[in-house]
Amino acid sequence: MQHIETLIKEKLNSDIRFVEGLNACMNCGICTAICPAAEFYDYDPRTMLTIVQSGNLQKIRELLESDTIWYCGQCMSCKTRCPRHNCPGLVISVLRKISQETGAFTQSRMGRQQYLLRKGLGNALLNIGYSLHPSFIKPADHPEQGPVWQWIFENASEIYKTVGANLDEEGPGVLRKIDKEAMTEFRAIFEETGCLELFRLIDQYSSIKALELGITNEANQPDMDQYLHFIENEQETSY
Ligand code: SF4
Ligand code: SF4
Repeated sequence: MQHIETLIKEKLNSDIRFVEGLNACMNCGICTAICPAAEFYDYDPRTMLTIVQSGNLQKIRELLESDTIWYCGQCMSCKTRCPRHNCPGLVISVLRKISQETGAFTQSRMGRQQYLLRKGLGNALLNIGYSLHPSFIKPADHPEQGPVWQWIFENASEIYKTVGANLDEEGPGVLRKIDKEAMTEFRAIFEETGCLELFRLIDQYSSIKALELGITNEANQPDMDQYLHFIENEQETSY
């Protein structure tokens, strides 16, 4: 317990987003009043800043293990309004990173979705250079797209041309195939910025969580496909 709290303190104080995002909060609540996430969720940036400013590491740890930090939409509207030039959105982005780095994210329903995003958006980015691509929106999985989507999906290469896109082809244009050189550079950026290491940590902590929940295969190893289903179900049943 002591070790992880010391780690949290070190990580907070060494992150420029924290240093620049929290000067002195006077608890006025303007950030909460204008925050779009606060309108829809049980979410209050002012309370979060108060906790972080208090330096109470036990409470900060509880925050890292909660759903709360994942509700922020990172719109940064709070930055423009704070009379003390704080930026709750930036402080929250630091808390999220620490939650990923320490495994605290696996303790909350919203946090566990990090694994879903890492496998879906993360892998897609590394494989094709796009986080989202029309080929991912399979009609059987997305009935909300309506019957026309089936037709667009099956005739994508022709239909996208009619709106000026260059779907999966060489050369310029929207949805073009990202060339090898750009992909190599792109992956190098992920490596250098520590993003791949974060992916590795999310995988590692999620495997530990799967084991803890008894989501294992016949060899008694974490069954990560089942764990993904577990997270998806957990998400659906929360609505
Ligand atoms: S607007 Fe600024 S000073 Fe006011 S509660 Fe939010 S962070 Fe604190
Ligand atoms: S960055 Fe987050 S905390 Fe700030 S206004 Fe946007 S949603 Fe709210």
